[in-house]
Amino acid sequence: MIFDMRTIVIMLVVSSVLMAITLLVGTRMGRAAGFVKWNAGLGLFALGWVLVAARGVLPDLVTIALADAILVAGLSVELAGIIEFGGRTAPRLLLLAPGPLMLALLIPLVHDYPAVTLLMGVVLAAIFGAMALAAARLGADAGPARWMLAVANFAGAIMILARSVDIWLKPAMYPNVFAANNLHAAAFVVLFANTIVIPVAYLLMHRERAAGELYRLATFDALTGLFNRRMFLILAERELARARRTGSPYAVLMMDLDLFKRVNDEYGHQAGDRVLAEFAAIAKRSVRTEDLLGRYGGEEFCAVLPGITMPKATAIAERIRGAVSQRPLGDLPRAITISIGVVACSGKAGVLLDTAIGRADAALYRAKHDGRDRVVGLDLAPEDAATAVP
Ligand code: GH3
Ligand code: MG
Ligand code: MG
Repeated sequence: MIFDMRTIVIMLVVSSVLMAITLLVGTRMGRAAGFVKWNAGLGLFALGWVLVAARGVLPDLVTIALADAILVAGLSVELAGIIEFGGRTAPRLLLLAPGPLMLALLIPLVHDYPAVTLLMGVVLAAIFGAMALAAARLGADAGPARWMLAVANFAGAIMILARSVDIWLKPAMYPNVFAANNLHAAAFVVLFANTIVIPVAYLLMHRERAAGELYRLATFDALTGLFNRRMFLILAERELARARRTGSPYAVLMMDLDLFKRVNDEYGHQAGDRVLAEFAAIAKRSVRTEDLLGRYGGEEFCAVLPGITMPKATAIAERIRGAVSQRPLGDLPRAITISIGVVACSGKAGVLLDTAIGRADAALYRAKHDGRDRVVGLDLAPEDAATAVP
């Protein structure tokens, strides 16, 4: 097959420019980690190929030395973009040094085509390799697209190296950069594919991360890290449905910090916040991993404990109450207390979540009424069965 290498190079330029625009739009004008570097890298890469395409038209110093130096600079800046996307700071040298360094090395070699390609081959393969490594080291929050990024860059490194070795072994096959042999064309096609795959992977990773962030915001309470009320209720509904199906027991705990308004009034709202966060950690440590714990309201917390009957449920509630009153939370000078209402149900009773929570709330109210700092357990009221699922 006869390839027209100049056409492939022009397609490289067109795809780079189009993908740079796509990234700009896809990140809502660049609001994404590492975006500026990523796009600047793409832009430089496109510019480098424009100059390569002008080989024979413009002086060799521009179309070989300057063009190749710009290509290297572009990829280095892109590498910095990947590192930055991973939450680390890329060394400044990575942005500034590679371009000028390559220019200085390439100027004396301009008329030695095999030497230029060997040098470029080694340097480009090293950068592609580093990008593959940086991509593979990205966290799971970047999603599976990070493997796309890693594979694309690894393929780039292999193809560029193979081309360089081939040029050294068979220089006659490569009279110039537009030599239309199969391996040469394949290397350029991989580069072309990478100008599309790499930005698409970046966009997917950016989206994956944004979706993860949204999920966290919609699921967890920011102050305590527990499930927020919305998610807690969704998961609790699911847990109760399972208990109704299997007929197994479960308990619901409603917890409310005592006289918390006073804590805020005396020590400030921020001190109050720290107490809430620390209480959440205590509660989390006190329940099992299969238990469900959520921030139900301001200083009210709710738990669903599957497979548990009243004695075990009150023991867990007492454990939480004891841990709270044992020592001051946050940086308060004194310890605070907590009241906990407990209701234990059998899945066989078919009780609805609203009913169970209402009953735990009644138990909590009783605990407050009886003087706070206590656990009160209530059985389901006979009328609760009337609201049960048949
Ligand atoms: P009781 O023992 O009867 O529960 O008394 P209390 O003062 O705890 O009850 P009340 O419900 O009247 O007050 C709850 C207080 O919790 C009021 C509010 O300022 C505080 N609170 C709610 N959410 C937050 C929060 O996110 N941070 C802080 N610091 N305080 C909060
Ligand atoms: Mg309270
Ligand atoms: Mg309250």
